[in-house]
Amino acid sequence: MEDLIQRATEQLIKSKHAITLTGAGISTESGIRDFRGPDGIWTKNPDAERKAYQSYARFQENPKEFWIETISSASLLGDLAKVAPNPGHSALAELEKMGILKCVVTQNIDNLHQKAGSKRVLDYHGNISLLRCFSCDTRYDRAEYDLDRLYKEDRLPPLCRKCNGVLKSDVVYFQEAIPADVAQESQEEAGKCDLMLICGTSAVVYPFAYLPRMARQRRSGKQTIIIEINADPTPLTEEGISDYLIQGKTGIILPKLVEEVKKRIP
Ligand SMILES: [Zn+2]
Repeated sequence: MEDLIQRATEQLIKSKHAITLTGAGISTESGIRDFRGPDGIWTKNPDAERKAYQSYARFQENPKEFWIETISSASLLGDLAKVAPNPGHSALAELEKMGILKCVVTQNIDNLHQKAGSKRVLDYHGNISLLRCFSCDTRYDRAEYDLDRLYKEDRLPPLCRKCNGVLKSDVVYFQEAIPADVAQESQEEAGKCDLMLICGTSAVVYPFAYLPRMARQRRSGKQTIIIEINADPTPLTEEGISDYLIQGKTGIILPKLVEEVKKRIP
């Protein structure tokens, strides 16, 4: 593992446009449950998954009813506002600060990269701390809307201040398209990066899973290095999409990488 960390350090320092893709693995180390792992939310509760598949249709049918239900029931993920980022998140924020990492594209909705200090984060599946207008896509900080009060005063759903459209959570539901701006920017990043660090994800959920494959395909002519950091080998390892896997916890390996980079860049 130490050899691979050295190799990744050198490649990171040489890179011109390094980006990272992150997934559930980096958040589970902050105590957030994943969805499809052995102890995952869907694995343990298939009914909740079936219901989640209907969320988008139910929201469109009756946003008011949907909001009332959302506010009066407990979140499947618990109170994410109380969860803190871990050393893996902090290491990625530090690499950005050093000018090495240009962008984080994450499948996680928990806002932990932002909490750790990352500036350029593309929330591929949305962000739980935001609301997004269903009509014009404007996003608002959830804290700007007193949802409990709107609930008590029977004034749900929350409405967009720009166009009066209905607001939904920014989190992308099953059957819902990836927000156009995020989808486009993520594709551009995958298209132009010369190093992709894939942390804590097996990248099997589409369309997110296209991103490493896109980066891999455009390698002919131009060198794009793809490095995985994950607890176990993934389809990306097995299909040869990644150049190599550094096996272990992101919360341990990423800080080590930062340490090594610091040794070489005074
Ligand atoms: Zn709007």
